[in-house]
Amino acid sequence: MNNFKALGEHRNQIVHFAHTGFSGKETEVVIEHWVSWFHLHKLLTNNWADIFTNYIGSIDEIDVKVKLNHNFLKAKFDLIQDEVEIEKNRGNRIVSCTSCGLESAKVLKSHSWGGEDIECLVCDVKDLKLKAIEISIPCSNCNKEVKYFMVKDHKCTECQTELASEYALEKYTEIYQEQDPETRYDDEADPLAYCHKCQIEKQTVLNLEGMWVCVECEDRGWAALDCENCDSFVTGDVEAIRYFACHRCEEEVRKNYVDTWENI
Ligand SMILES: [Zn+2]
Ligand SMILES: [Zn+2]
Ligand SMILES: [Zn+2]
Ligand SMILES: [Zn+2]
Repeated sequence: MNNFKALGEHRNQIVHFAHTGFSGKETEVVIEHWVSWFHLHKLLTNNWADIFTNYIGSIDEIDVKVKLNHNFLKAKFDLIQDEVEIEKNRGNRIVSCTSCGLESAKVLKSHSWGGEDIECLVCDVKDLKLKAIEISIPCSNCNKEVKYFMVKDHKCTECQTELASEYALEKYTEIYQEQDPETRYDDEADPLAYCHKCQIEKQTVLNLEGMWVCVECEDRGWAALDCENCDSFVTGDVEAIRYFACHRCEEEVRKNYVDTWENI
């Protein structure tokens, strides 16, 4: 929100020819623009994807244009090398940025499941960097191994075929089944969990590299457990599921609470 507000204010100053602060500061302008687009792009293509699906062509075009400014970021990257060294000497870890790709993102916090909160010293983006999942599956067309979670648009690097999430789910389920003899395949329980993030009515969460990951929305790092209330195997917040409800039965449980209170 702060980014959008700042961008809006500068935009107003520019249209009223009142802007004085930015002359000779092209890099600052580019960076403010870059961060705002980073967040807006995420909203347009994730949270609001259903609404903006018809505009995806235009959104992609803008994305390409913004990315053309990468050379400004590279120049800043070269300029701040001393700062990067200082951060390293302070014991801070510097990793590649999820937005600009430069080795300039400071790790603010590491989560126990492997994800990291980062802040980029070049492009100012703050983001959650998800743990990389390196396990590959064979391409549905040419059979070449594809790191589904790592490649852009899930396209095979050899033949450019886009792998469908249903196909990926099938293949990763096979791997999941093979890799862990103690998986839930041994007993009656559901081996795959329902995802509380995308809430798709299909079991899309499985365990890869010791981490629960949804093949559909790619969210990862949550716990997966059986909801004692509705018997579903689900991801989500452990405490909430244990003491209240999971995303699948939440509505019903809440309604029951209300009914009970009304009858007292
Ligand atoms: Zn960056
Ligand atoms: Zn292929
Ligand atoms: Zn999901
Ligand atoms: Zn439940």
